Amino acid sequence: MSIAARIASSSTAASPCKVTLLEKNSRAMLGGRCGSFDVSVPGHDGAFRHERGPSLLLLRSVYEDLFTDCTNGAKTAADFGLDIVQCAPAYQVVFDDGDRIELGFPEKDSEECIAKMNSYEEDGYAKWNEYMAACSAFLDCGLPNFIEERLDLPSFPAFIYEALRGGGVAWPLKPHSDVLDAIFASEKMKALASFQDLYVGLEPYRNDDQLFGGILKKTAPAVFGLLAALELHPTNKKAGVFAPIGGFRAVATAFERLCEDCGVEIRCDTTVVKVEDDGVHIKAGGTSDFIKVAADAVVINADLPYATESLVGSTATSSAEDNAATGLKDTFDWDDRFDFSSGVVAFHWSLDVLCKDLNTHNVFLSASSQNDTIQSWTAVRENIRTNMDAADDVSFNFYVHRASKTDTTAAPAGSDSIMVLVPCETLERKKELSSLERDEAISKYREQFSDDYVDQIRSAVLKRLGTIPSLQGLASNIIDEVVDTPATYSDYYNVGGGVPFGLSHGFAQLSLTRPAPRYRRSKNTFFVGASTRPGNGVPLVLLGAKAIAGQVVSAVSQEDGEIQKI
Ligand SMILES: Cc1cc2nc3c(=O)[nH]c(=O)nc-3n(C[C@H](O)[C@H](O)[C@H](O)COP(=O)(O)OP(=O)(O)OC[C@H]3O[C@@H](n4cnc5c(N)ncnc54)[C@H](O)[C@@H]3O)c2cc1C
Repeated sequence: MSIAARIASSSTAASPCKVTLLEKNSRAMLGGRCGSFDVSVPGHDGAFRHERGPSLLLLRSVYEDLFTDCTNGAKTAADFGLDIVQCAPAYQVVFDDGDRIELGFPEKDSEECIAKMNSYEEDGYAKWNEYMAACSAFLDCGLPNFIEERLDLPSFPAFIYEALRGGGVAWPLKPHSDVLDAIFASEKMKALASFQDLYVGLEPYRNDDQLFGGILKKTAPAVFGLLAALELHPTNKKAGVFAPIGGFRAVATAFERLCEDCGVEIRCDTTVVKVEDDGVHIKAGGTSDFIKVAADAVVINADLPYATESLVGSTATSSAEDNAATGLKDTFDWDDRFDFSSGVVAFHWSLDVLCKDLNTHNVFLSASSQNDTIQSWTAVRENIRTNMDAADDVSFNFYVHRASKTDTTAAPAGSDSIMVLVPCETLERKKELSSLERDEAISKYREQFSDDYVDQIRSAVLKRLGTIPSLQGLASNIIDEVVDTPATYSDYYNVGGGVPFGLSHGFAQLSLTRPAPRYRRSKNTFFVGASTRPGNGVPLVLLGAKAIAGQVVSAVSQEDGEIQKI
C-alpha cells in the first residue's frame, strides 16, 4: 500500500497518475503480512487479537515519514490513527537453563542487566558496550549507504574507525561468529549479540563447508550486528523496539486511509493471474472469468520469486497456456534458485490466564555449549527438519510475543493472547504442482507440515516455556489455537517457499546483488516488497517503495498515466 500512496501522492498535472491497488484477499486482510486478526471464545467477553506477521516495529521514523511525505507535511501518522509506543525493555531473553535477562533499555541499561552480563563472563557488560559502539557505527553508516542506497559521507569515519579498531576485531565482512568469538568468551553473550540474524534469514555461525565461511549464502557477515544496535542501543537515534497500539492492523488501516487520502482506488478480492507490458489479467469477486485491466505501468508487490514464476515471463505464460483454453489460470509456483530465509511455524494461543512473566518480546535461546548453539540454528543453516521429540533436549530458538504487556486492548481483562514463532524448514518446491489450480497446489503443499510434526513442535515449546515456573502447565490454559505453517503463508500471501521473511540477505542477495526492482524484460514493470531491494521487514519494504516511486512516475509520464499495483 505504501507504494500506491507514494505514487498517487506524486501525481501532478504534468505527470498525472491514476493508481489502482489490486489485492487477492478480502478487505479485512488488506496490508498483507502486516495485519492482525481477532479470535472470539465463547464465555469470554471481548476479542483476543493476534498478529498475522510483524510484532516488532523498528525504525519508527520510516513509518512516520511515509505519512508526512505523502501529504507534503500537512498530516502525520497520528492523523491517520497510528499511535506508536516504545517497548522498554525491548526484550526478555530466556536461556534453556531457565536463566533470564532483560535487554534494551532507553538511555541506560538496568543494574540487573549489567550484573547478569558480568556474571556470564568477566567484564561482560564492558565488552557488550564496546560491541554495541561498533554496531551503532555500522548502523549509522549501513542504513543510508547500503540499505537506502543514499551516499552519507559523514557516517564513514566512525564506521571505518570501528571496523579497524583493535586490528579489525569487529571487521564487518567476517562471518558474524568470528567477531563474536574474538570479543566474548561465553555462549550466552554471543547468543545475546546475534539472535537478530534470524530476521535477515541468516545464522551467525561460520560454515566451513561453504565459500568464505558461508557469508555469501547462509552466514551473517558481522556487519549485521547493526540489527542488535537497531533494537538494543540505548542512545542511537534510530534504535528502539516499538509497538503500534491496536496491533499491526492499526498500521495497515493507517496505510489504507492514507491511500484513500491520496486518491488510490482499492479493489480487494481481485487476483492477478498474469502481468503484461500493457496491463494485467485479473479474476475478481469469486467469478471464474478473467478480465484484462489496462495500465501504463505495473508495480508487483506480490513476492518476487512467486511473481517471476507465476505472473510474468515465459514460464508463467507457457504453464498457463498448457492448462486452459483462455491461456489463463490462477497457479502457485516460485523460482527456487534463490536463497530463502527460514520457514516459521506460528502458534497463536488465546489464554484464560495472564502470563505476567512474559515481556512484550521474548526470545528463547539455546546456549548451553557451542555445539548446542550451532544446532539451534539448524532450520536456517541446513533448511532441514529439527528433531523436535520432546523426550530429547532439543536445541532450538523461538520467539514469543505478548502484546498485552504494552497494549491492554490485545486481550480481554485477565487473559492473554500470545504468538510463538518457531523457525523451521521451507516448503519443498514440487514443479509438477505448478500446473494445478492454485487451491489444489496449496492443499498439496499443506501436507508437507503434518499434524504430528506440529504437535511435536508444540510440545517442545511448552516444555521450554516451563523453564519459567509460572508458565508450567500452560497447555491447560490454551482456550483457542490457530497454527500457521509455511503453507499458510503461501496460501494467504503467495510467498515463495512459504517463507515469512522473503529472500535471505547473504552477500549474494544484498544491496546491488539482490533482485532489482525494475523487471529486466519490461520498461514499465516494477517489483516492490520483501524479496527485492533493499529487503525484508516492514521498514525496508517502505524504504524500497520510496526509492522506486519516482521511477514509476517517470515511466508513466512517458506513457499517459495509469498504474496497477498488486
Ligand atoms: C510471522 C511473521 C513475523 C514477522 N515479523 C516481523 C517484524 O516483527 N517486524 C517487521 O518489520 N517485519 C516482520 N515480518 C516481515 C514483514 O511482515 C514483511 O517483510 C512485510 O510485511 C512484507 O511486505 P510486502 O509488501 O513485501 O509483502 P506482503 O505483505 O506479502 O504483501 C503482498 C500482497 O500482495 C498480495 N498478492 C499476492 N499475490 C497476489 C496476486 N496474484 N494478486 C493480487 N494480490 C496478490 C498478497 O495477498 C499481499 O497482500 C514478519 C512476517 C511474518 C510472516
